[in-house]
Amino acid sequence: MSVIFQSLATIPNRYAFLDCIQREVSRDVHLSLLLIDVVRFSDVSSSFGYRVGDVILEEVALRIKKLFGKDAVLGRISGDIFGLMLPGIHSDMQLRGFYSHLVEHFKTPISFDENAFVADFNVGAVANLAHNKDISLLFSGAESALKQAKQNKYDNFQLVRLSEKPESGRSLALKADLKRAFANDELELYFQPKVNLQSLQIVGAECLLRWNHPLDGIIVPGSFIEAAESYNMMNEVGYWVLERAFRSAFELQSRGIGLKVSVNISPTQLYDANFVSKVGKLARQYGLDLSKLELELTEDVALSNSLLVKRQLAEVKALGLSIAVDDFGKGYSNLAYIRDIALDTIKIDKTFVMGLDSNPVNKAIIQASQLIAAALGCRVIAEGIETVEHLHLLRDMGIEIGQGFLFSRAVPFDELLTLTQTDFMVGTSLAYRSRVS
Ligand code: C2E
Ligand code: MG
Ligand code: MG
Repeated sequence: MSVIFQSLATIPNRYAFLDCIQREVSRDVHLSLLLIDVVRFSDVSSSFGYRVGDVILEEVALRIKKLFGKDAVLGRISGDIFGLMLPGIHSDMQLRGFYSHLVEHFKTPISFDENAFVADFNVGAVANLAHNKDISLLFSGAESALKQAKQNKYDNFQLVRLSEKPESGRSLALKADLKRAFANDELELYFQPKVNLQSLQIVGAECLLRWNHPLDGIIVPGSFIEAAESYNMMNEVGYWVLERAFRSAFELQSRGIGLKVSVNISPTQLYDANFVSKVGKLARQYGLDLSKLELELTEDVALSNSLLVKRQLAEVKALGLSIAVDDFGKGYSNLAYIRDIALDTIKIDKTFVMGLDSNPVNKAIIQASQLIAAALGCRVIAEGIETVEHLHLLRDMGIEIGQGFLFSRAVPFDELLTLTQTDFMVGTSLAYRSRVS
């Protein structure tokens, strides 16, 4: 489609837009559809009148069109909702990337008279199936994605995958279960202490997600994090965790307990262009000393070549948070990424620690990690410390901080408080044992 729009009236309306999609689908089914809602646009119209509202919407439409190029088709679905059809096959990451691109671009305000408007968006996206020519299926998928994006508390982007096969009873049940868990506050944050291996004092805590299931009891995160990822709920879950982590760090700070709180961040979160502003908002809300917060990333995030991810990491670091790479050594042999990110901590994967007494290579890997950390000017911490032997070996190697079942499993916040107050009893006896052994 051609077009630089003359006015709002010349943008294809809902029906004309659907016709365009219909034509495109009969030519080639490979396309994605985004519904773009301008957040709180009604405030603009009610404050400045409809004339100004229309001028701004025109500018929004013009910019979107320019941003996505000549192959993209833009339509006006209703007052402040635009449809954008993009030809081609797109991965989940690419679709989220389009959203990020949009949000980024619109950080440059739209000026009118003496005022400026920074547009923000809810976006629902859907990629067409390999054989689908039914555009109502595609459109209703995009509509339900947008509805979900609007309902989400933390993530303004939602992707819906149309499915070739109907979802199995089991996966539908798990999805419904997860949504309920979220709505009913069944998720909980637990805390595993991080301990100074010399003094055996608690110096920090890692937030670990638990699902307090009404029937199955406490469930550890492995499978439900995977499920949340596959149902596009991970950003919501991730921000819930981040909010709770800030709240807990605040609680610790106000009790004068100087622990560093670490939070696991999923890749999806770092691909959300609003990540830094959400962290900044939480920081202002809780008035926290951000040097008391650390983000733990897995190597696949650290390894990402995405400019957005790199920039967001640099920006959160500039806010004062520290960055750790988790499960170091577990996944990848390509270490080049480590030069590009300003890391504060390398967290050695627990398999190397737990295998310390069985295979000398584990010790060599830990020592190699120490060398890398020294060159980068960051610290090394160990996870998976299960025995006094592990503790001794790590201490002898000069590792300063660690966590593991030897000290404590992840516990609810109140228990963490007790652990910090009771002079870490396990630790005291361990210190004694280590001195006499
Ligand atoms: P992780 O970040 O590497 O967390 C450490 C995991 O090792 C935790 O499992 C912890 O309970 C376990 N662990 C700690 N000490 C020991 C030990 O001495 N021995 C053994 N065998 N295990 C130990 P958990 O809680 O099941 O979490 C598993 C993974 O799930 C985490 O690995 C992290 O990648 C992910 N995860 C947990 N909470 C969150 C979250 O809030 N957000 C995200 N994105 N991921 C999370
Ligand atoms: Mg972790
Ligand atoms: Mg780990």
